[in-house]
Amino acid sequence: MPPAKAHPNLEFVRRVVRWFRAAARPLPWRISPRDPYRSLVSEFMLQQTQVARVLEKFDAFIDRFPTLLHLANADERDVLASWSGLGYYRRARLLHAAVRSIVDSHDGRVPRDVDALMSLPGLGRYTAGAIASIVFGNAAPIVDGNVARVLLRISAKPMSTDKAMAWAWKQSERLATLAYEQGVVGPFNEGLMELGATICTPGTPRCGSCPIAPSCQARARGVQGLIPRPKAKAAQKKLVCEVVVVSDPRGRLLVERRTLRGKSGGMWGGLWQAPTHEHAGDVTPRGLAGLLELPPVRIGKVTLEFEHLTTHRRVLFRVRHARVPDADTLAWPDRERRWISREDAAGLALSNPQRRILLG
Ligand code: SF4
Repeated sequence: MPPAKAHPNLEFVRRVVRWFRAAARPLPWRISPRDPYRSLVSEFMLQQTQVARVLEKFDAFIDRFPTLLHLANADERDVLASWSGLGYYRRARLLHAAVRSIVDSHDGRVPRDVDALMSLPGLGRYTAGAIASIVFGNAAPIVDGNVARVLLRISAKPMSTDKAMAWAWKQSERLATLAYEQGVVGPFNEGLMELGATICTPGTPRCGSCPIAPSCQARARGVQGLIPRPKAKAAQKKLVCEVVVVSDPRGRLLVERRTLRGKSGGMWGGLWQAPTHEHAGDVTPRGLAGLLELPPVRIGKVTLEFEHLTTHRRVLFRVRHARVPDADTLAWPDRERRWISREDAAGLALSNPQRRILLG
């Protein structure tokens, strides 16, 4: 009698796992056995940030905070400074809060199940599912944009990713249970993410190198490029940042710390910057020195102008320079400001645009 054919879903799971074991990129958090703390840090860093950028920062961050306890005991400013360059600093604050909560409520050990993980600050269903399945081998589903795209394409579902999320979670639940029964839920979930990140990419998927091509309905119908449907883009708010780089006769620079706004800290909240005045972009502010509480010095013309895009904003930076004759007589009781050398400025937590402005 010929051997029984595996169920298509089981065959799918096996193909993804086989491919992942052979083709996974060697990343510093993919060590064996998986380290829950490293995985937690990498998952926070990878939210909204490309792997290549995370690779530039991950090892240095782990060197600075080698264990969960080191990170929990660290000063928030040190954490933000080590996060510098990764953007979306809200994640650094939430990671810091999450490890503190793990120390306070879980004896310093990363919890193993999805519900306990989701009770921590900054961990949504995706991150909790990734840690629970990849690190601890639990039957937890995961869906992010990459996974949703692969699942939509193999079933040829012509929905936009945001509309398909509920459907994709159901699919992922079924597949994760099946993979768990085979003892491969970690490599299967991670393999699906890897496939979406490296082969089944948004623009032109590399179907010729895809391990699941034989069962892909989008490929069979030639509609890969149409799935998922692009979602309507929300209009980006316009914002202008008038920046004055102030120096003193010793070559020191004036920097100030942005105030924290709301629960999340707001855009670049808590980071350092050259004195900056923000406005909606409909007027050119007069009296910039007064608005920034600077002494009556001559502020030069704009020497640098560039645009920075965030998820929801289009921010235009206009940079001018000024020089004060005597820094030591100046004080700002209501602002957190300090004079700092250019070398020391490099060690501050700065947003990417302010890094460009202050350090060139
Ligand atoms: S065959 Fe092509 S479209 Fe289908 S899952 Fe693979 S890479 Fe994606």
